[in-house]
Amino acid sequence: MRLSRFFLPSLRETPKEAEIASHRLMLRAGMMRQEASGIYAFLPLGLRVLQKICAIVREEQDRSGAIELLMPTIQSADLWRESGRYEAYGKEMLRIKDRHERDMLYGPTNEEMITAIFRSYVRSYKDLPLNLYHIQWKFRDEVRPRFGLMRGREFLMKDAYSFDVDFAGAKHAYNRMFVAYLRTFARMGLRSIPMVAESGPIGGNLSHEFIILADTGESEVFCHSDFLDFEVPGPDVDFGSVAGLQSIVDKWTSLYAATSEKHEAAAFAKLAVDKRVSARGIEVGHIFYFGTKYSEPMKALVAGPDGVERPVHMGSYGIGPSRLVAAIIEASHDEAGIKWPEAVAPFKAMILNLKQGASDTNAACEGLYAELGAKGVDTLYHDLDERPGSKFATADLIGIPWQILVGPRGLAEGKVEMKRRSDGLRELMSPADAVRRLCL
Ligand code: ATP
Ligand code: MG
Repeated sequence: MRLSRFFLPSLRETPKEAEIASHRLMLRAGMMRQEASGIYAFLPLGLRVLQKICAIVREEQDRSGAIELLMPTIQSADLWRESGRYEAYGKEMLRIKDRHERDMLYGPTNEEMITAIFRSYVRSYKDLPLNLYHIQWKFRDEVRPRFGLMRGREFLMKDAYSFDVDFAGAKHAYNRMFVAYLRTFARMGLRSIPMVAESGPIGGNLSHEFIILADTGESEVFCHSDFLDFEVPGPDVDFGSVAGLQSIVDKWTSLYAATSEKHEAAAFAKLAVDKRVSARGIEVGHIFYFGTKYSEPMKALVAGPDGVERPVHMGSYGIGPSRLVAAIIEASHDEAGIKWPEAVAPFKAMILNLKQGASDTNAACEGLYAELGAKGVDTLYHDLDERPGSKFATADLIGIPWQILVGPRGLAEGKVEMKRRSDGLRELMSPADAVRRLCL
């Protein structure tokens, strides 16, 4: 992508309304724009990151055996009357009427709808286990939308729903999501810690929140410091192995980790002083087992091997991809701007032409741009007529992992400079070596 043809409305000044780094940087980097309180448009740079995040979420959901579908954002209130949640949900739910005066709502979550889908088609244990997920916008009329995408009113959620014939099956479904979540966040460069959590209005009793430690997080959390060094399961993890997954989950739940709602000061105090982490955290995912809470009132029954019909055991599993955009920035930035981990970066490399219009730098940049394009490396070419200082600032602000600085002095010796955004490391090399490096 040539910057001259892209839409990157970056800002020089720091927007006053933004209280935390991720919100400030997203506005300054031209990633998003507020359209109403807690409601944002994703601009092209922000959308690229959101899509990379969703791709990782999808890959790991699919790997764990979940199957994607897509439910609508607008739901009928009647469904929610069946579960009893229409009245119970309160003001967070955006209630609307259609032209026939029918009560509708903008979905804050989809337990009711997925249960209705399930019961229309599935009758027998032979069709189980089943885990269906979608990635869809949600609306929750939060009391205090703030911190940009971190707590929006309209936000993107990946929500998965598992169906099993009994508790043992449901526990395995829960473990599958547990392990998939560890992998998902690790692939985005985040260290997530599963913490015992309150299950909230969605209900149930087996529940973990996946928390990223960050000073600006809204949750108060307590955990054992060894979690920071635990090894995350690799891509070869066998999601079919009941015992294998259970042992991973046992390990990741063997030490103290709880959010403030579930915090037990006495248990925490038993940890060695130097192992106690008392910090702030961002909730990026949440998994629940809630048994037959919806299947019972909504009559989602399956016949077991004995032929008897019983309510199906369910769990639900959320991840916030739009919140993750902000959480990743909170975990990875400096004074100058964002430092994207490669896996979610909007572009992998950025070419900076330090003397736009000069025939040697132009030719070298065009050559690099063409070659990287041909090799499938997502590259942004800063081809605007701006001073080098301004190009450096933009590149650091938008946080592309690799910058290739192309200036007349280096080119005289056949070299360009590669700068790694994460640690500022710079290295002179030939353009051909720069391409090779980016194709590793
Ligand atoms: P919170 O405690 O932060 O209000 P929640 O417990 O209500 O979140 P869940 O119902 O567990 O949220 O939603 C699943 C995931 O969706 C959360 O882990 C989070 O990543 C994301 N999420 C929830 N609410 C918001 C929001 N207002 N803005 C952005 N992401 C959100
Ligand atoms: Mg939650």
